[in-house]
Amino acid sequence: MIRVAVIGCAGRMGSTVVSAVSAAEDMQLVCGVDPYGAQADFPVYSTLAEALENEQFDVMVDFTMPSVVADNIRTALPAGVNCVVGTTGMSTETLEELAALAPEGTCLFYAPNFTTGAVLMMQFAEAAAPYFPEAEVIEFHHCNKKDAPSGTAVRTAQMIAAARDFTSSAPGSETEIEGAEGARGALIDGVPVHSVRSMGYVATQEVIFGSMGQTLTIRHDSWDRTSYMPGVLLGIRKAPDCSGLIVGLENFMS
Ligand code: NAD
Repeated sequence: MIRVAVIGCAGRMGSTVVSAVSAAEDMQLVCGVDPYGAQADFPVYSTLAEALENEQFDVMVDFTMPSVVADNIRTALPAGVNCVVGTTGMSTETLEELAALAPEGTCLFYAPNFTTGAVLMMQFAEAAAPYFPEAEVIEFHHCNKKDAPSGTAVRTAQMIAAARDFTSSAPGSETEIEGAEGARGALIDGVPVHSVRSMGYVATQEVIFGSMGQTLTIRHDSWDRTSYMPGVLLGIRKAPDCSGLIVGLENFMS
């Protein structure tokens, strides 16, 4: 049995993880952590430190907020608790800094996107990148999302940039008109990224490649938060057998 604590257990993702872990035959939901936790049929603590004082668990799953996730990891890793992290907004430098706190045999697994479809979208984008002079990422999320651009969009842009030895011709050379700065999106490693926030979406992303007389669009839609759960459960199963920093669900997909 893998003993699991869910951090952010009262949130949209955390409550979905609670249901998925509870239904998994090889996992035991030991407790949740959430300062705004409602009554539940499992122990809920308001801080991770309090949970560690009272319970024993092998893995903590974190779907909280960009402002608190690093502190949670800083608390869990030195205690030998494997971290499966979905909370977005941390830089690569921060992840590396945090992973250095992991004792041998303890893993920090971060996936900017836990859906298999989004991982494949990123891999298809990486494969297409060398063949198209232009690439742009447009991501669409629900309007309660706290960070922009999404972790998936950042990672997609980084993968596109790493897969080609040129930058797009347009970005940087155009002039955004006064009062409409940002119209061309944010440049991440030379790739323009645009963030749409609206009611009606869970998470959607399009990657548009352009070449002479042709475009290629790769699109992924998450219609429901259950789409993330097979990836989260896979992370919980794999992390205890790993050590150090692992970024991306693709490392566990085979
Ligand atoms: P949410 O606001 O619904 O939930 C966050 C929860 O964290 C809240 O219940 C809040 O009370 C709790 N919280 C705040 N501070 C805390 C602390 N110190 N300790 C414990 N809990 C704390 O947010 P959400 O929609 O569930 O998203 C959570 C995060 O997951 C966001 O960063 C989002 O971008 C990310 N996300 C990642 C993926 C992925 O595949 N990697 C998918 C969806 C969302």
